Amino acid sequence: MQTRLVRLVVIGGDYWPSCCFKVCDKVMDTARMSRKSVHAPRCTLGLSGIGFLVVHYFLQTSWQKEDRCMSDYLIRATGYNGHVRAFAARTTGIVEEMRRRHDMWNTATAAAGRTLTVTLMMGAMLKGDERLSVKVKGGGPIGQIIAEANAHGEGIAYVTNPHVHFELNDKGKLDVARAVGTDGFLYVVKDLGMKEPYRGSSPIVSGEIGEDFTYYFVTSEQTPSAVGVGVLVNPEDRSVLAAGGFILQLLPGTPDEVVSRIEERLGQLPQVSRMIGEGLTPEQILERVLDEPKILSRTDIQFRCICSPEKVSQALVSLGKEEMTALIEEKGEAEVHCHFCNERYHYDKAALEEIMQEM
Ligand code: ZN
Repeated sequence: MQTRLVRLVVIGGDYWPSCCFKVCDKVMDTARMSRKSVHAPRCTLGLSGIGFLVVHYFLQTSWQKEDRCMSDYLIRATGYNGHVRAFAARTTGIVEEMRRRHDMWNTATAAAGRTLTVTLMMGAMLKGDERLSVKVKGGGPIGQIIAEANAHGEGIAYVTNPHVHFELNDKGKLDVARAVGTDGFLYVVKDLGMKEPYRGSSPIVSGEIGEDFTYYFVTSEQTPSAVGVGVLVNPEDRSVLAAGGFILQLLPGTPDEVVSRIEERLGQLPQVSRMIGEGLTPEQILERVLDEPKILSRTDIQFRCICSPEKVSQALVSLGKEEMTALIEEKGEAEVHCHFCNERYHYDKAALEEIMQEM
């Protein structure tokens, strides 16, 4: 979109009256669809004139719209006069990034993507530098699902065996329960900056992830909750078409009529992945289950691993001179693999010797 903007402004000097009309018509349509207010137009490249401003205005509007449609974010909200706290997220991009990095097959993508989505929303319950890690170990062919997130919307996930896919189940959905298994536990570890991390766990009840987290919140954290989460995968090329979820939590003293109202609405709610796929925002999803939710915050979501070239070099330094010398003499190179993000850091002999000199 940015390229188009620049090109249009440049050619506008000569061709504005005739050739820009068609483009302008299209972006005006897009602008009409967008409800968000736009920034005041700025004139780029030193060109001026009302025509450019109009084009720039509408292009900027549609650019922002496109960006909003594609970007992942999560929101924190409350509803029913503060009786309910709620989280909702669109995670299509981060789940696709996870799938691509780990070459996941469809059922594995759905299982890990659902877990990552809930973990990210649980991250929004933390603050500052707090982090959490989730492990789903249900005894199924996928092995373990590991997901991590922090309070800044950054997360990652991987599975022991990414090459898992089954036929759709009798509801026509990806058979996540078969991949995850139903004989095991869901573990949560929260690093809250204390001496000891918080640890919680609960038995896996269905292997469908959403229900398992619901059970975890109720039994381990004593918080009545509803968790909806979904991932829609393109069967043609395995790419992620839509992913997202929500968590509703009842605070102590929630009146029964509020509970019944929410239950009734949840019963009528379409699948989350379908709503995300149809273009509903996290805000619009919460509007469907809560009466006029009050949005407290919005956080952008991104795939971010804690590994980095600096950290990997530090890890090599920590091997000590003796081991490093042996590594250089015997192998002459090293490869460090990060399980979380599947990044491989390669060090040739010269790079290893350079690290040796710093020791
Ligand atoms: Zn990594």
